[in-house]
Amino acid sequence: MNVDATLLEILVCPACRAKLSVDEDASELVCNGCGLAYPVHDDIPVMLIDEARRPDPPPQASDADGSAQTG
Ligand SMILES: [Zn+2]
Repeated sequence: MNVDATLLEILVCPACRAKLSVDEDASELVCNGCGLAYPVHDDIPVMLIDEARRPDPPPQASDADGSAQTG
């Protein structure tokens, strides 16, 4: 994958207008703001929200069950 650096400079996330980072391994452009990952086909970023991969859901906060003992 070889996305043009000049292109990266002008590209922003269509969802939140934040800058994008290149994920070489996944061949995606990842938004620094909302985290959407846009696919890159033939070195051409597909800047469509419909085509973007949603970021992984945040880990569920596991509240400690009230088992604290006093004594
Ligand atoms: Zn975004």
